[in-house]
Amino acid sequence: EERFVSPDRRLDDLDLNLRPKRFVEYIGQQKVKENLKIFIQAAKKRGESLDHVLLSGPPGLGKTTLANIIANEMGVEIKITSGPAIEKPGDLAAVLTNLKPNDVLFIDEIHRLNRMIEEILYPAMEDYALDIVVGNGPNARSVRLDLPPFTLVGATTKAGSLTSPLRDRFGVLSRLSFYDKEELAQIVIRAAKVLEVGIEEEGAYEIARRSRGTPRIANRFLKRVRDFAQIEGEGIITKKIAQESLSRLEVDELGLDRIDRKILSTIIEKFSGGPVGVSTLAAAINEEEETIEDVYEPYLLQLGFLNRTPRGRKATKLAYQHFNYNFEEEDSL
Ligand code: ADP
Repeated sequence: EERFVSPDRRLDDLDLNLRPKRFVEYIGQQKVKENLKIFIQAAKKRGESLDHVLLSGPPGLGKTTLANIIANEMGVEIKITSGPAIEKPGDLAAVLTNLKPNDVLFIDEIHRLNRMIEEILYPAMEDYALDIVVGNGPNARSVRLDLPPFTLVGATTKAGSLTSPLRDRFGVLSRLSFYDKEELAQIVIRAAKVLEVGIEEEGAYEIARRSRGTPRIANRFLKRVRDFAQIEGEGIITKKIAQESLSRLEVDELGLDRIDRKILSTIIEKFSGGPVGVSTLAAAINEEEETIEDVYEPYLLQLGFLNRTPRGRKATKLAYQHFNYNFEEEDSL
């Protein structure tokens, strides 16, 4: 079963050319981009490393892409790893000691670093120093190693679950937001050029409208629609082809897929509209709690279909209407 709304990167990695390499190709996120450009210029002018940067936002909005662009614009190399991949202090020490001056170290899912690793990261970020323990038992002692200045770029889907000592050590905190449909249409048109498939503007807007504000999803849709266009159409993505292919992929006109519908219909039918705790919901629809929270909820919240209350998730009137349920106003007690 193909999932469009997932943080799985394997699909994207097949098309590294789709990934913008410089700021000029990176569409949208105007404020974040403008600020970063200034910080990068200033750091370069001073011959220093860029301050540590924390990028937050839902999956597929371009955090990894931006980390690569930062390195390109700084004219340095990037080393890529992720929170769950760094298991032992030695893993982190190996990465840190391989950096060259001003290089970028990108840690994806940084909120999933374990505490022990986090504590090694503090002096590394603050003083470019690595405290390691050598020897065992009574002979054990701590040795401080100097590191070259470097820039840590952390990415997270959950800025709120970062510990405050870690968050405080980032000089730049940038929050990415969902893209509007003009921006997504531009992204689709650019990607179609890279993939060498013809597309009409209306076709690009049709894909954009259903991509839930997310470039990764827009690019995935584009590739599937291209298949339909090449096999059943004239090879050009028109509005009609885009519409037909996306409804065959069970993506509705708001970009909601089978799982979104399942989440909302379950809250409405099984839990009388909520509130229901996310773990109960996850069990009821047989999905991971984390997938619901990180991947599905942000867009449902953005659409105003879901409310987060202290007692759990509630479906809103808009959700009832969109899925053709009868909405009864709550008695105000
Ligand atoms: P994240 O790290 O936030 O999960 P990625 O950086 O992997 O997201 O982005 C997913 C894909 O979306 C990239 O491969 C790239 O092709 C595309 N993309 C992301 N942001 C942009 C953008 N601003 N302009 C054009 N394409 C983008």
